[in-house]
Amino acid sequence: MYPDKIKKRALELIRDHSVRQVYTQLAKEFSAAKLPDEDTIKRWEDEAGAQALRERQEAYVKEHKQAHFAQLVDIANMLLGEELGSLLNVKGETYSLIEEGRWVDKDKSELTTMIESNIDYICSILTSWEFFDMFVKHLEHENEEIKQDFYKYIKDKPLEFVNLVRTLAQRKVFKGKCPVCEEWE
Ligand SMILES: [Zn+2]
Repeated sequence: MYPDKIKKRALELIRDHSVRQVYTQLAKEFSAAKLPDEDTIKRWEDEAGAQALRERQEAYVKEHKQAHFAQLVDIANMLLGEELGSLLNVKGETYSLIEEGRWVDKDKSELTTMIESNIDYICSILTSWEFFDMFVKHLEHENEEIKQDFYKYIKDKPLEFVNLVRTLAQRKVFKGKCPVCEEWE
């Protein structure tokens, strides 16, 4: 093992010197110390390069993943809107939500219609690709029934659907992969 200060100095010098020059310079600066040979200096350079590359890749993925999740959260919030965001299941198949400032009751099929019309709205603001191929791809990793038949799930279980979307909007973390994030790890 070599003292850290020698390794640190070698990595500083290697940026604009050859391995041979680094060795010569180290010999001048650290005359009393045991010096690394040229192979060791070369290996340090390679390791430092690989480490820097890894760090850049990690920073890239972290930044893009944050932006991707933020967009998915935006879609989840658009899908809920204020009305579905306030949804409560009062009893049985009666649901209540706040519409224009007051509580109104909705039945199950009305909920389904609201969800569907919010989907149409999102697809008109964004693209249907962003909704179905990106957002829904992540939803499918949360629920097997959604994976089997997205619209059937909304029709059969609108409350469960709203609750799932609400959970994701708060969790801000999405499982699985979509075409946007499948390459990142
Ligand atoms: Zn994704």
